[in-house]
Amino acid sequence: MPAAVAGPEIERLIQLLARLPGLGPRSARRAALHLIKKREALMTPLAGALQVAIEKIQVCKICGNIDTQNPCTVCTDPRRDGSIIVVVADVADLWALERAHATNGAYHVLGATLSPLDGVGPQDLTIEALVARAHDPRVSEIILALNATVDGQTTAHYITDLLQEANVKITRLAHGVPVGGELDYLDEGTLSAAMRQRTLF
Ligand code: ZN
Repeated sequence: MPAAVAGPEIERLIQLLARLPGLGPRSARRAALHLIKKREALMTPLAGALQVAIEKIQVCKICGNIDTQNPCTVCTDPRRDGSIIVVVADVADLWALERAHATNGAYHVLGATLSPLDGVGPQDLTIEALVARAHDPRVSEIILALNATVDGQTTAHYITDLLQEANVKITRLAHGVPVGGELDYLDEGTLSAAMRQRTLF
C-alpha cells in the first residue's frame, strides 16, 4: 500500500472513483485530480447531477428500465409497438439496443441471466412479471435479446419453456458473422452458427 499523498477526503474520492467499472486505482487518481482542477467547470455540476440522480432516478414498474419518470420514457412513448416485447438481461443492453435504433418494440429487463454456478436462480430475475406481460392479448411477439453465452442461452431456453402456454411468437437474435467481420477471424462456434442460420439472399 503506497503512502497517502493527500488528506482523507481526497483519498476517499479516489477510492470511490476506483470502484467505477473501467477505472483502476491509477485512473481513479487521475480522474480525481482532473475533477479537483476543474472544480467549478466539472466537479460542482457533477455533484449536482449525482444529487438529482439520487433523488429522481427510479426503476420503471413496467419494463425495469432506469429513468427519471415512472413508467419510463420508452414505455410511455405512444409511437412504440407494444405488441413486441424485447427481453434483455440488463439496462445496459436496453440502452445499447436503443442507441442502435434496433427495435421499435417495448422492453423487459430481467435484471440478470440465470447462473446456477453463481447462485442466480429464476426467483432473482423478473421472469414472473414477463410471463404475466406475455399473456396480455395485445402482445404477439417476445424477442429474446440475450447474450450468446451459456448463461444467456440457458435463460432463453428457460423462458421459452415457461411461455409455451402464452399465445406469442418467441424469437431470438441471430448468431453469426458480425457486420464488417472476416470469416477467417471468426471462432468455430460463430462460424457454424452463421452457417446453420443462413438466410435467403
Ligand atoms: Zn419502462
